[in-house]
Amino acid sequence: MHRSALPELPFEHFLSFAEVTGFVEALASAAGPDLVELSRLGLSREGRALHLLTITDRSTGPASAKPAYLIHGNIHAAELSGTHAALYTARKLLADHREGRSDLLREMAFYIIPRINPDGAEFVVGTSGSVRSRTDRSRRVANTLYQEDVDGNGLILSMRQEHPDGPYALDPEDPRLLVQRTVESRPPFYRVYPEGRVHAWDGSDAIAVEGRGFDWNRNWSFDWRPEPEQWGAGDFPFSEPEMRALAEFLHGRPNLFAVLGYHTGPNAVLRPPSTGSDGDLDGGDVAMMHELAEMGSARTGFPVVPVVKYHVNRVGQKDINLRGHFHNFGYHHLGLFVFEFELGTLVNSAGVTTEEVFATKNQQEYEAVMRRVLSWWDRQDPSRRDPLFHPWTPYEHPQLGRVEIGGMLQRHLAGPTLSELATISAATYEFTLAHAACRPVLSVEEVTAEVIEGPIRRLRLRVANRGRFPTHISAKGRSLRRLQPVRVEFTAGPGVERLSREGHSNLGHLGGLTDSRVLEWFLRVPEGAGWLCEVGIDAGTAGRRRLRIAADGTVEALPVAP
Ligand SMILES: [Zn+2]
Repeated sequence: MHRSALPELPFEHFLSFAEVTGFVEALASAAGPDLVELSRLGLSREGRALHLLTITDRSTGPASAKPAYLIHGNIHAAELSGTHAALYTARKLLADHREGRSDLLREMAFYIIPRINPDGAEFVVGTSGSVRSRTDRSRRVANTLYQEDVDGNGLILSMRQEHPDGPYALDPEDPRLLVQRTVESRPPFYRVYPEGRVHAWDGSDAIAVEGRGFDWNRNWSFDWRPEPEQWGAGDFPFSEPEMRALAEFLHGRPNLFAVLGYHTGPNAVLRPPSTGSDGDLDGGDVAMMHELAEMGSARTGFPVVPVVKYHVNRVGQKDINLRGHFHNFGYHHLGLFVFEFELGTLVNSAGVTTEEVFATKNQQEYEAVMRRVLSWWDRQDPSRRDPLFHPWTPYEHPQLGRVEIGGMLQRHLAGPTLSELATISAATYEFTLAHAACRPVLSVEEVTAEVIEGPIRRLRLRVANRGRFPTHISAKGRSLRRLQPVRVEFTAGPGVERLSREGHSNLGHLGGLTDSRVLEWFLRVPEGAGWLCEVGIDAGTAGRRRLRIAADGTVEALPVAP
């Protein structure tokens, strides 16, 4: 069979929606339908495809019959690095399979959603403007500034305007930067807005910025709270169609044992809980998720942080308690150990650790960090990328009059440099392999068909889980009804009579590594019977299997329905 080369994934610039689409199509086409299925979860609000790559070696069964691992990226619009990291894993899984470095795709499946927020990402890729997940621009509010490329240079930067009440002053150490005004500050003082236009402005100073914002990582059903208790929550759990599509997909996959999301805050391996404390969860689950997160830390060098402790510049503040967060949904509603990698920001690239960022006690200390970032950037090769800082340039704004447009490019600040991202993506891929190595593994052992007397046979087999995770994955998973226990269905061969009462068995959940059940059936087998029976095993997170057992006890694997 002709095998075309897998497309290269360049770590040179952030990808537009068209480029992401081009890459997933090229990857699927090069790898072929035996390894990759390209489909979509649904459509975004603006009608873009929510690309889904289903990756498994179909010669050993469909994805739905194997333990599965889901990766999603870019739920937050500006966190474009997540798309690269997710696509890196998709490509690397296929490359490793092709080159014989791994058998993983024969045994399990990956669902990869590189860009769950294509609309928000497209806004950021195209303009460098700021949006969390979505901004409601359809119902514009009076006296509110909406981002727009006013000066037509293709970018949304910042606008500063001198004003006696301005809360910002020039940084005495690096006048490119603005710092928070203090009693020692000297004029000029500035007010600062994103580049844009004020909707239905009455000419007053009270200008709000942007309309209602949405954070799709606060739109999940566990412990969801409306605004103002939780900023960005949305109207109700899963009010955002992209999140609803992802939730339905997750709930429709009983074979799913792990979920990983890619984000780009200061680098960290995030684990549950996202509200409360470890003490609210099962102790064994906390120990396991911490151990798994440490595997991520060992490979990336990132610190392990429970979501509630992910404090950016908030020393002395209470835990953040993010309501309606994906982590709590993943643990409490799916029963899985879910993780998020914060892939880092330009601050980390400049040599400032996440611990240092978290340890900043006030705005002045944080401003010192930004000074370090800018001076580090000045020392980088300027020929390879667009500048981080755009000089403040006078502009006659149609509403505000004289302003200056410039400042830092948000698109750069929101993630690590792309060359570092390649290294980071390779490290997080190694974490995924280590996490995947813990999957439940269905094993059928010791199949015997013993002659008892005349035509009477005793068929025995052992059904085991030889993976590290139990089939219920976590203690929480055992208590949820979503993760199904192991079931066995017995069908007698032609002319074979089953004497034992039970044709189907519910084995319950199988623990990790050392748990098995021996099944036994007595059969009356006519002379010359071709095969004794078929045995179907549905082991939930450990996948599904269908076996045909011959009169001499030999076992043949049958295809499993998708
Ligand atoms: Zn994020």
